[in-house]
Amino acid sequence: MVQVADSKTAEPPRYRVVARTSSRAGLPSGSHDCAWMVRAAMVAFAGVVMLACSPTPDGAAGAADTSTADTLAADTLAADTLAADTFAADTGATINITPNLSHDLIRLDLTLDLSTNKGVAHWKVMPAFTGGSVTFEVGGLSDITVLGSPSYQHSGKLLHVSLPATDFTPSLMISYTFKRYDAMIGLMNAGSSVTWPRHCSNLFPCHSAPSEGFSYTLKVKGLAKGDVAVFASEVTARVPSYAVALAIGAYSYHKVGETQSGLELGVWLRPDQLGTDGKLDLPGIVDWPKAVSWLEATLGPYPYGKQLAAVTVPWGPMAYGGLEMHPIYHVSDLAIGDLAVHCHESAHGWFGNGVRIACWEDLVLSEGVADYLMVRAMAAAKGEQVMQPMFAAMEKSVAAKAGTQKDVVVWQSTCDEIDVEASGVSAKITYHKGALFLRAVAQQVGVAKLDAALGVFVKTHLGNAVRFSALLDVIAAETGFDPKPLAKTWLQSKGDPLAP
Ligand SMILES: [Zn+2]
Repeated sequence: MVQVADSKTAEPPRYRVVARTSSRAGLPSGSHDCAWMVRAAMVAFAGVVMLACSPTPDGAAGAADTSTADTLAADTLAADTLAADTFAADTGATINITPNLSHDLIRLDLTLDLSTNKGVAHWKVMPAFTGGSVTFEVGGLSDITVLGSPSYQHSGKLLHVSLPATDFTPSLMISYTFKRYDAMIGLMNAGSSVTWPRHCSNLFPCHSAPSEGFSYTLKVKGLAKGDVAVFASEVTARVPSYAVALAIGAYSYHKVGETQSGLELGVWLRPDQLGTDGKLDLPGIVDWPKAVSWLEATLGPYPYGKQLAAVTVPWGPMAYGGLEMHPIYHVSDLAIGDLAVHCHESAHGWFGNGVRIACWEDLVLSEGVADYLMVRAMAAAKGEQVMQPMFAAMEKSVAAKAGTQKDVVVWQSTCDEIDVEASGVSAKITYHKGALFLRAVAQQVGVAKLDAALGVFVKTHLGNAVRFSALLDVIAAETGFDPKPLAKTWLQSKGDPLAP
């Protein structure tokens, strides 16, 4: 049993949690007060958090209603609106633009209204000094209008927006309607969003390429009575599109502990997941802080601030695992008490989110490394003896898939030419072969030396998108061992390298 404070004192300061109720009396016990409005302006990668408490005026209807919104974001919005107005008013005229999905996106201020299914995405994009265009994926969106561009064209699953010739950052305000889904391809009727790998365009205009990284703010409006929305209200370190997420339900926050550096770890649970005393009762994850302490000591400070949380999500009876939406990642109800799942998802804070993959073909840099770090972090939490059985289970998994349709080449040299799901690359073989490849490297150079090389890799590439080959380069430079032949055997070939 983990000792936790009640939800009032356990409030996570840098999350915006929105609850809508008809009256204060309807709020979950003592929970939605000042701390909801505490905001953090986080300095990317420096791990510095500046807190500014902005208490909701006492007696305001719906203490946490988003109408008492984050004033920083609101100010930004107003300023940008003015900037946009200086351009010619949008006419929605039809234009012909060459699709340009590579024009860099910098920052997103996103507002989602759950009562109307309408969204406003306020994008800042790279300046186009001589004019140009940017294309967004908008596959599941409709009723699109754009402010801040001389002209735009919504054509099928793409939105082409012309950019004025300026030397400052253009701001585009895109309003739209989104849909709800039963499947895990957007905001689900069950209450949480899943946009991994390429479904962000069912929730907001985006670039789904994993290399695209941006900071963002998120506001949620229009919650039904009694619901709580759990999401990161501001993330200043860059994330890929699939990391923007929310979960809606009767959630309450429970602190699990702190790492040695002071990083707070917590979980968002629904009432039926609490102990009989209404408090946290997940004995399986008591050692999560030990595991994340090891990740921080090995890889450097957690890239997304001073708090890391997991929110349990109802993915159904067949789903076991999580998805990396740092700093509040999602874990299926079935897996919320599984320390290994938390170790894997926590590791994505550095591999997959902190350092993004350049292409879907590099997924092993995210999933394979996360599975290896899961084993190492579990060893830090539970003892070295846990490693052998975990690797043995992966060996068994690879052996079972060898020669079957699931036996795919997990690392290919092309870039974004594969369908990461249909190709089979997103399946477990990539996780397991990636982890076993790193174990094979560790067997050559020593576990500690490989740990150190992984730390150097993060320090070198944090905030950027890189190919898997960059990891091979760092390992070679740091250990003096060339891992390329092992990579060829494990990752660039089919089959089971350990088969007799
Ligand atoms: Zn993963």
